[in-house]
Amino acid sequence: MTSREFKYCFCPYDGLQLERPSGHADGVWAKCPQCGFVDYPNPKPCIGVIIEHAGRILLARRGEEPKRGMYDIPGGFVENGETVEAAVAREITEETSLQLVPAPAGASEPLRPGEFRYFASFPDEYGPHRTATVNLMFIAQAETDRFQAGSDVAELQWHSVDAVPTDLAFVHQQIAMQRFLGLYQGRADM
Ligand SMILES: [Zn+2]
Repeated sequence: MTSREFKYCFCPYDGLQLERPSGHADGVWAKCPQCGFVDYPNPKPCIGVIIEHAGRILLARRGEEPKRGMYDIPGGFVENGETVEAAVAREITEETSLQLVPAPAGASEPLRPGEFRYFASFPDEYGPHRTATVNLMFIAQAETDRFQAGSDVAELQWHSVDAVPTDLAFVHQQIAMQRFLGLYQGRADM
């Protein structure tokens, strides 16, 4: 990972300068000398959904920074207290108006219309502070090709699986889409 080693210079609770341990024996975490806050290098969980319908993939163009205007796989950050499954359903409805439900646990048959399933996860970073993320990617079957773009999405469009843009906004999206398309087109080695 290339994310910054430390997120904070000062304690977010009391503003004291964090102490940086000099050795690596006890990790390289910065710690507040007053309240004991530790700047653990943990990523923020995000979800993304590769939505397919009749041989086409739904991509957005980002309506906001970072990477405004670039192609984007619909998704976003998991919120406090929310399950990952709920984050998938919420983000996709917000951004596309499509309704998705999780495929039955353990089921291995092809997705039915309106279902999503876990695909794979990818570490990455986000935004000007290079915030570390772990991106849980899902695949879904849309029930319909009709959608309504959300307010943080500049544009939504279906792309044939043979002509999916490669210049997606984030590196993990490019890797995930390549892997998905390899599977979809039956030439995957995984
Ligand atoms: Zn503190």
